[in-house]
Amino acid sequence: MAVRAELLKNIRSVEPYVPGEQPQEKVVKLNTNENPYPPAPGVQAALDSLDPADFRLYPDPTSSELVRSLADYYGVGEDQVFVGVGSDDVLSLCFLTFFNSEKPVLFPDITYSFYKVWAELYRIPYECPALDGDFRIVKEDYYRENGGIIFPNPNAPTAIYEELDFIEDILEHNRDSIVIVDEAYVDFAGRSAMELIGKYDNLIVTQTFSKARSMAGMRIGYAISNPDLIRCLNDVKYSFNSYTMSRAALVCGAAAVEDRAYFEDSVCRIKETRERTKKELAELGFEFTDSKANFLFARHPRYDGGQLFRELRDADIYVRHWDDERIGQYLRITVGTDEEMEILLKFLKERLSQ
Ligand SMILES: *Cc1c(COP(=O)(O)O)cnc(C)c1O
Repeated sequence: MAVRAELLKNIRSVEPYVPGEQPQEKVVKLNTNENPYPPAPGVQAALDSLDPADFRLYPDPTSSELVRSLADYYGVGEDQVFVGVGSDDVLSLCFLTFFNSEKPVLFPDITYSFYKVWAELYRIPYECPALDGDFRIVKEDYYRENGGIIFPNPNAPTAIYEELDFIEDILEHNRDSIVIVDEAYVDFAGRSAMELIGKYDNLIVTQTFSKARSMAGMRIGYAISNPDLIRCLNDVKYSFNSYTMSRAALVCGAAAVEDRAYFEDSVCRIKETRERTKKELAELGFEFTDSKANFLFARHPRYDGGQLFRELRDADIYVRHWDDERIGQYLRITVGTDEEMEILLKFLKERLSQ
């Protein structure tokens, strides 16, 4: 039975974000930028410490254990840390909290496609300045009146990282609006904008446990900023859902943060695999941006991106591809283990020599 138009007219409708496929069969999965290595060993111990009898109780609404470990890790106050159910939750609440102006929010035309979805969902006006011909963000495009700014650094899916002086230029020109730097991939790249938090009261930095910390399945993300903006974010969170983080996520998250050595080692391995894969892809004639993330953004001048994507998929090698005018020739390839990259490269070698 079709719902009547009179009923539909007052219903919020939105075109949702399309997440990467999560196949249930075993495939070479290089399509959603997950970490190929398991989380820190302390996470197992944290899981073992859980007593299901406690699951009848609500979790700590302030997430204090996890907040404290992140505050210690970054050397900031506990009142400067906000945690949520993945950075998607954190970012969505940031849109709701901080982008509340009549003026348009600015984010790049090629970027994390969720930004547009949240803007539409919350009815926030937005404009999308185009990346330049090399897929770089043009910072001058952000030197104008706006209702807030957000971009990932490194950007997704281009993998390009901008240095902190670039971020500072944007902050300097936007003292009266909130600037959110989405650092989902910064651990693979370089310095974090977190070190600018004390200097700019309009800066919010978000990060996630899903990529460098190998915990996409636990859903943990966070924002670091000054205490005033974190308070605003908490006010909105408590007006939405007080108990966002499960008991399991809180203890496992804290355990993951505590093992700095394991984390740094796993990031290092991924960076090594990334650089090796770049060399091999170049030998096969691929062109790509200078990736500073845990994925590559590559195209082959002689093979159609969509075609290659489908052939890889038929061979149970999953990468990401967008049917889009500007980036339709590109594949976004997550950096997996050396073995996974070998399977990918072997397939490409055979395919391209035909
Ligand atoms: C993966 C990703 C996120 C969200 O990750 P969560 O799993 O929700 O923490 C946010 N921004 C960018 C750019 C990402 O690639």
